Amino acid sequence: MNTLYRWPYENEFGKRETVTSDVLVLGGGLAGCYAAIAAARKGLSVVLVEKGATERSGAAGSGFDHWESACTNPCSKVTAKEIAEAYIEEQDYYSNGIAHYIECREGYDRLLDMESFGGKVRDTEDEFKGAEFRDNETKLMFAYDYANRFTLRVWGSTFKPALYKELLRLGVKVCDRTEATALLTAMENGKKRGAGAVGMNVRTGKLMVFRAKSTILAMSRPARVWLFNPDLVGLCEFRPPQSIGSGHAMGYRAGIEFTMMEKSVKGEFSAAGRSFPPYGTGNNHNTWYAATMVDARGVEIPYVNRDGVELKTVSERYYPAPGQKFFLKGGVIDEAKYEYRGPETLDFQELMRRGYELPFYADLSRMPEMERKVIWGVMVGEEGKTKIPILQNYTERGFDPEKHMLQSYGTGWQSASFLGQERQLFGAAGGLMHDWDLKTNIDGIYGAGDQLYASDCCGFAAATGYYAGRKAADYAASAELAPIDEGEVEKEKQRLYAPMYVEDGMDWRELNMAISKAMQNYCGGVKCRELLKEGLDLLESYEREAVPMLSCANPHELMRTHEVLDILEVSKLILNACLLRESSSRPLCFERSDFPEMDPKEDQCFITIRQENGQVVGGRVPHGYYGDVEEEYEKRNQDYIAEHGKMYPSAKSR
Ligand SMILES: Cc1cc2nc3c(=O)[nH]c(=O)nc-3n(C[C@H](O)[C@H](O)[C@H](O)COP(=O)(O)OP(=O)(O)OC[C@H]3O[C@@H](n4cnc5c(N)ncnc54)[C@H](O)[C@@H]3O)c2cc1C
Repeated sequence: MNTLYRWPYENEFGKRETVTSDVLVLGGGLAGCYAAIAAARKGLSVVLVEKGATERSGAAGSGFDHWESACTNPCSKVTAKEIAEAYIEEQDYYSNGIAHYIECREGYDRLLDMESFGGKVRDTEDEFKGAEFRDNETKLMFAYDYANRFTLRVWGSTFKPALYKELLRLGVKVCDRTEATALLTAMENGKKRGAGAVGMNVRTGKLMVFRAKSTILAMSRPARVWLFNPDLVGLCEFRPPQSIGSGHAMGYRAGIEFTMMEKSVKGEFSAAGRSFPPYGTGNNHNTWYAATMVDARGVEIPYVNRDGVELKTVSERYYPAPGQKFFLKGGVIDEAKYEYRGPETLDFQELMRRGYELPFYADLSRMPEMERKVIWGVMVGEEGKTKIPILQNYTERGFDPEKHMLQSYGTGWQSASFLGQERQLFGAAGGLMHDWDLKTNIDGIYGAGDQLYASDCCGFAAATGYYAGRKAADYAASAELAPIDEGEVEKEKQRLYAPMYVEDGMDWRELNMAISKAMQNYCGGVKCRELLKEGLDLLESYEREAVPMLSCANPHELMRTHEVLDILEVSKLILNACLLRESSSRPLCFERSDFPEMDPKEDQCFITIRQENGQVVGGRVPHGYYGDVEEEYEKRNQDYIAEHGKMYPSAKSR
């Protein structure tokens, strides 16, 4: 084995620890933490496995600025059903109706939980007293649609430490700095079921075997598949660098079913260092909604509403158009019914024709004081990765939003421009297929958060985490531990440790780079059978020829190497999923030159993919397979409704 040169932690290669629990949670982001809390509240023993440090890990670890779909908050004028159905329609039914309804119905309950754990969700210091977006009685602050008040501005950077404390208070055993690498399954009455997982301590190399009656997958979604820059690893993706889709890779190896894995979008910001850091350039989307935008001469670019009517005041940007009941998140919704875009509603060519000149800038100095202060200081500051890189750094270097403008790049509003083959799993990406219990096709294995298909945000992660936690706890309460196959554990140990025995081999970065190039070349903006097959052949040749050459010198590099092995697995999953859809699709951003027909009726469905005995198995599930979201939810959650329902009827009757 390679020497651990000046490694600060104990060398535990070859040691093994077995940890047993009722419920095992893999991934300690928002979804994993809430899952563990739900199961622990039911009195079960819970183990949570996190690759980083749960106190700050995951997409929400550095914060987030808004909590979507708090439809049951006392100021909301919408129902859970209305918003869940809008999400489904907005994505042309390639959306997760089950999870969105859970998000809309239970999301605000999770926020109240968060407040009881110590997270900050209200303007308790009265900093924004009197602001149009604040309810003075509850001190809740709203974003985007000020009329309907279902998206809350929150202090997301306070959330993860509060969750971590609550996990410890409830007695959850948190295994930090431990990567989960493989799922263990067993046969029971002729059916596969979950038995636990294998992992490795990423500081010492100790092999960890987790036995559990039920398992929840909450390891987020794949990344670094098309876009990778070995010198800018931390800037490679929007989400944290350690979340690269291990949950997808281990699930696919174990026979779990996925859907929408053929969907990828052209790169957006924060990809492989090809853009400025997220929210670090002048724009009017999301965190920056609804910043005033000006052109190079300082001429203001107007906002228009859904109907193309030019808005005269800043305030009007936050209200639905006449006849529009509500609008969803500001600035990023493409579906006209829910649209409320910023100045770019007039497309770029139209802006040029009208004489606007590049570059454009966000000019907060022209906004009312409260709106300026809430964008620069709360939104930029609490939004993930902005507190230090953007708010602190720019302020220290003299940026003053009362005086200065911030430039946009690309053709108007972006932080960069990307090529068609530079793709990401962004927005409502593919993931675990599941039923109304958030259970996968394997008994005893559940999913939550960004690992589910068509997932997106914090409310979604927290609500589905909590929901999966209680369903997995119910299963565990009546199940026995499944036997562990020692042969499977030994095989996984050999796979995990192999790169430590290769001297002067290949670095993980080289393989990541090669995979990304292969995916750009063979699974880019326009796909066809020959290209996809060629891509698969190439990746298989990497498996045969490059993987045995991978070499590393310590447990940290070994973890990075395991990540790239997972990226390789996920890339094959994506190529195979692309082969299964034999048509093109606008909502899935999926174009095949050999099947150019867009969204033929017979293909308007979820195409699923899983492996059985090493063979790819495809399937088809109709879009509305989950039925009426409210009815189906209520059929299955009477216990929860009895416990938490008191606040819901008021929202429902509005
Ligand atoms: C910069 C940024 C800003 C955002 N802003 C907002 C916002 O304002 N509002 C909003 O609603 N949403 C926002 N989002 C999205 C939101 O943060 C995520 O959707 C949500 O946090 C996902 O939670 P999760 O628990 O599913 O995944 P994550 O929080 O990513 O957690 C996954 C966890 O799994 C761990 N993990 C990964 N692999 C392994 C493994 N093999 N073994 C063990 N552990 C593993 C990771 O370390 C991580 O802690 C933002 C995201 C980013 C990146």
